[in-house]
This record gives sequence, structure tokens and C-alpha cells, in this order.
Amino acid sequence: MSELNPFLIAQRQLDECARILDLDDSVREILRVPMREMHVSIPVRMDNGKTRVFQGFRVQYNDARGPTKGGIRFHPDETVDTVRALAAWMTWKAAVVDIPLGGGKGGVICNPKQMSDGELERLSRGYIQAISRMVGPENDVPAPDVYTTPQIMAWMMDEYSKIMQKNQFGMITGKPLELGGSAGRGDATARGGCYTIREAADHVGLDLKGATVAIQGYGNAGYFAGILVSSLFGCKVVAVSDSRGGIFIEDGLNCEAVFEHKAMTGSVVDFPDTMPISNEDLLELDVDILIPAALENVITDENASNIKAKIICELANGPTTPEADDILYKNDVHVIPDFLANAGGVTVSYFEMVQNFYMYYWEEELIHERLDKKMTRAYHATLHAFMKYKINMRQAAYVVAVERVVEAMRLRGRL
Ligand code: GLU
Repeated sequence: MSELNPFLIAQRQLDECARILDLDDSVREILRVPMREMHVSIPVRMDNGKTRVFQGFRVQYNDARGPTKGGIRFHPDETVDTVRALAAWMTWKAAVVDIPLGGGKGGVICNPKQMSDGELERLSRGYIQAISRMVGPENDVPAPDVYTTPQIMAWMMDEYSKIMQKNQFGMITGKPLELGGSAGRGDATARGGCYTIREAADHVGLDLKGATVAIQGYGNAGYFAGILVSSLFGCKVVAVSDSRGGIFIEDGLNCEAVFEHKAMTGSVVDFPDTMPISNEDLLELDVDILIPAALENVITDENASNIKAKIICELANGPTTPEADDILYKNDVHVIPDFLANAGGVTVSYFEMVQNFYMYYWEEELIHERLDKKMTRAYHATLHAFMKYKINMRQAAYVVAVERVVEAMRLRGRL
């Protein structure tokens, strides 16, 4: 049975990397734990007039390369260990794409699907008030993640601006375009992942035209991934799913129509002319490319050997356990690991910060061009380490990222 605590997994991955790089134990000790974290209780007046108290966290993992950066999740199963792991992965993510930021993450234990807009707004404002001393454009810059949206970013930016008594657009990213958001941020995670798929397909010799794709999760990352692999490469998306279940059709789905169905019914399930498929079975489909785009720990030692895809592009954070990594590596499945595959989101977030500081906004084409360059470079740096050290792609991405963070710490005199 795999260990499923994401923070223990993140630490184990780091230990492995420290061994490959022969890092000093003292360096490893620093990198194994977050630099700082805050636990807050957020009282929120609910629509029924009663007050409920929500638990929230903000973790700043490492700031050697720049201000900490990372999203905020609103999820009923959130734990501080998940947030710690995600903050660690943000550190490696920013380093692997070589943007001048560190890693952080936030989370609130709540179920946004059962809350009204008013309740969500009061919770969002309450959370930012509670962590306001930690965040700021030069300290720690949040963003959207699971179940948080541009509207939520707008409320948080407004609340922080009130506290600081001046507009503070650069304190958070993933904002609506009207409020200092960046062109191209909406599909950035999926688009960045697609650029790595293009390079990976070239490496493994897969023709993307007509290649079959299964996508687990149909939120921001999964939906745009479906749209983009079809429109950029001519791939055929044969299956998608969400938390309620999945749909399959051999001839390929119209991803836009599935999105509209989900917007109307709340789920992709029951989309006309498709067969139902479970989230578990979707992962084991005989497809060329598998895109996990939902939550952690879905590919484990129990199903990894049944995976038939040639390429896995991990748009979710932490979808694969270390035991499963070993199995996939042995079976020659080319894994584009999470903090590389999904780094497009934070890369365009970084572009958003730059635009906020300059108060000058770029055209979408320029964003795509610059994102492509960052992702392609990061993929090839990882592929280089993969071949040089004969390790799996996740370990290779760790090697690239950790070396950069350690070098920054060394130059700062922190080691
Ligand atoms: N939540 C996204 C991630 O996990 C984006 C983070 C950001 O833009 O700061 O990468």
C-alpha cells in the first residue's frame, strides 16, 4: 500500500533527489520543511445569520529565488500537510521553469459547492484579512487553485487593497482581466502542459494528429487541455471525467459541448451519445496520452501497471505516488511530472505580476510565445537530466529545480 500523505511523499521525493545529487545533509534538512506557516480561524457570517468558523492555512516553503508564490485551494478535504506538499512543489515548479519566485500555498477547509456567493465572498475576504501580514507583492503572492476563481481573486485583492489603503493589484494573480489580470492566464496551465506534450511526443516518436487522449478532471486545467490538444494538435479526446464520473466515446468528444453540458447540469456525466466510465477505468484506457487533471494520489501501485498510455501529462498536483512512479518508469511510460507539466499557470502568473508592476499589458500572442519558450526550455532541461542520470522524469525535474534553489541559497550565504 502506498503512503498517501502528500507531504511525506514530497519529502521522500526530495530525499531521493538529495541522494542523486549527493547533497549535504544540512542542505537537505533545510529543503525538507517549510520556512514559515500560518494557521488561521476565520469566522464567517452565513446566510442563515449564524457564524461558522473555518480553518485556513498559508505555507511559505522557500523564498531563496524570490517572493513565495502559489495558489489557494478551497476544499472540504484540505489538510495542512497537503498545503505543505503543494508549497514544496511550487518551489520546485518556479525553479524548473526558471522564474524568479519561491514556493508557497494556501488552503481553507470548506465546501464551496455548498456555499452561496455571499458566503464565499465573506470567507475570501476573511481569509485574506487573517493572513494579510504574510502576503504582499514582494513577500508572497497567492493565485487560484482547486475551486478558487478569478472572482475570488478579485475579492481578495480588494480586501488587501483596503487594508493597505491603496490599490495592490500585484498582491495576487489569476485576477479578472478588468482588474489587472493577464491575457492568457485562463488556459495557461493547460497550454503550458500542451507545449510539453508536443516536445514529449517528439521525444517518444508519437504522431499527435489523431492521437487519443483521456482526461481525468474537467475543471480549468482539464477542460482547456481538451480544447487545446484538439485545436493545436488534432488529437482525439475520447474520455473525460469529473468528481461524479466520466464519459467515453471512441470517435472523440466535442470538448466545448461537454463544457456547456457541465455548466448546465453540474457534471460531464450523461452527455448524449457517450458511454459512462468510472474515474478509475478512465485511467486505464488504451489511449496514447493520459492527462490527470484533478487531485492527488490517483495513480498508485494498485493501478500503475494497468496504465497503457505512452505519455502521462500531469496537470494535477501530486497525482502519482512514488511506488507508481517506479512501475511507470519500468514500463517505459513517459511521465511529464506535475511541477513541470502544470507550471504554465504560475509562469503566466509571473507575467501577470510583471505587467502589474509596469502597469503595461501584453497581447495574448506575446504571452503564448513567452510561455512556450519557458515550458520548452524546462522540458528539455528535464529531459537532459533524465538521460544524463538515467532516472525517471520526476527525479530529473527535481534535479534541475533543486540545483537552482540550492545555488540561490549558496549565493545568498544561507548554506
Ligand atoms: N495553483 C497553480 C499551481 O499550482 C498556480 C499558482 C500560481 O499561479 O501562483 O501551479
